[in-house]
Amino acid sequence: MDSVLLRDNPLLVPLNRDKTLYDGFITVQDRDFRLRVLLPAAGGLKGARLHCCWQLKHLLQGYEHVVKQRLQQSADLVTFVLELKTVLEVCLKSCPECRSIPPPQYYSRLISEMETLGWSRLLFIDTEFRTLRLKAEDSSGRQHVLTVKLKPKVTHTHTHCHLTAVLLLLGLLQSTLDQLHRQFLLILESLSEFWDVLDQIDSNTWILEPEKPSRSDTMRRIAIGTNVSIKVEVDPKHPRMLPECCLLGAEHAVTPLRNKLNANMHLWNLDSGVLHNLRDVLEIEFPSPATHEKSSFSTECGICYSYRLESAVPDQVCNEPRCGQPFHQACLYEWLRALPSSRQSFYMVFGECPYCSKPITVKMAPQQC
Ligand SMILES: [Zn+2]
Ligand SMILES: [Zn+2]
Repeated sequence: MDSVLLRDNPLLVPLNRDKTLYDGFITVQDRDFRLRVLLPAAGGLKGARLHCCWQLKHLLQGYEHVVKQRLQQSADLVTFVLELKTVLEVCLKSCPECRSIPPPQYYSRLISEMETLGWSRLLFIDTEFRTLRLKAEDSSGRQHVLTVKLKPKVTHTHTHCHLTAVLLLLGLLQSTLDQLHRQFLLILESLSEFWDVLDQIDSNTWILEPEKPSRSDTMRRIAIGTNVSIKVEVDPKHPRMLPECCLLGAEHAVTPLRNKLNANMHLWNLDSGVLHNLRDVLEIEFPSPATHEKSSFSTECGICYSYRLESAVPDQVCNEPRCGQPFHQACLYEWLRALPSSRQSFYMVFGECPYCSKPITVKMAPQQC
C-alpha cells in the first residue's frame, strides 16, 4: 500500500521506505486537516500513533478516547481514516463554532486592517480573534468604545455598539475596520449635541438615576429637593426638544411643579439646553454638587432602611407634608399587602403610611409615568 486513497480525499503518503510514517490531509465538509500517522514497525495498527494539526486537535476535543480506540482496533489505515472521517463529521455537527475556524486569510486581513486603522485604537481582542473593541474619541474629547464582532467569512463584519441607533446604522455596513471606525466617528458626531445636553445636566445637578450614567443612557432622574425629583427622557435625535418628563414625589410638592410645567411649556427654547429650559419652565434652581450634598436627596427607604434595592431607589413618597417619608415601591407594596386594614383594588393597594398613619397608595406594578 503506497498511499491511502479515499473518495474525495487527498491522500496519506508514506514518508519513509519502511512505510511506518504517513503524512497527508483528511477532508471533511470542505475543510482539510493535516495529520500524520506513525505505524509500528511490526505492521498492523496496534501501537500506532496519530499526530494532528491544532485545528484537528481542537475539533477532536472530547473524542480523543474514541479516536485512540479506533486507531488501535482498526484493521488497516484505510479503515481507520474512514472512521476518523465519520468522527470528524460528528464533531463538526456538534460544534458549530469549530465549523467556522477561519482560513489563514482571515487573520492576515485582520492584521492588515488593524495596521491601516492603527494598533493604538485597539483596546481588546478576544482569544478567538472574533471580538474587537476599538476606541474612538469624538471632537469634544469624549471616549467611546466600538465593539466589532467579526464573522469568519472575511467579507461579513457584524458590528454592535451600545446605542440602538448606531447598531442599526452600522449593522448594515460591510466594510473594513478602518471604514467602520470612520462611520462610527461620524455617528458619534451626530450624537454630540445629545451628549452635550446630558453632560450639562450631569455636571450641574444631582442625578439620582442611573447611578453611573453611561453614554447610552437617555434617562436622568434629577433631584429637585428632598424626595422630589424629575425624570427626563432625552431624545438622542432631538436632544434640545422638550423631553418626556415625569415628576416624582409627594403630591403636595409635585402638583405645583406639574402645573408650572404645563403652563410654561410654551417658553421652551430650542436654542438653549434642556437644563436651562427646565429651570425656566419649572421656575426652580436645581440643587447642584456645588451647593448641596447628595445625601440630602438620597433618603433611604422607610421600610428596608436602604437606598438602593436592586436597581430601584425609594420613589414612593408619603403625601402628608409633615411626613414625606420615601419608600421603595416593592417595600411599600409588600408592607401594605400584609396588613388586614389595607384594601386592594385593581392594581392599587390603599393603606396607611407606616410612619404617620395617613392614607397612602401604591401601584402593584413598578412605577410608570
Ligand atoms: Zn425599601
Ligand atoms: Zn407618612
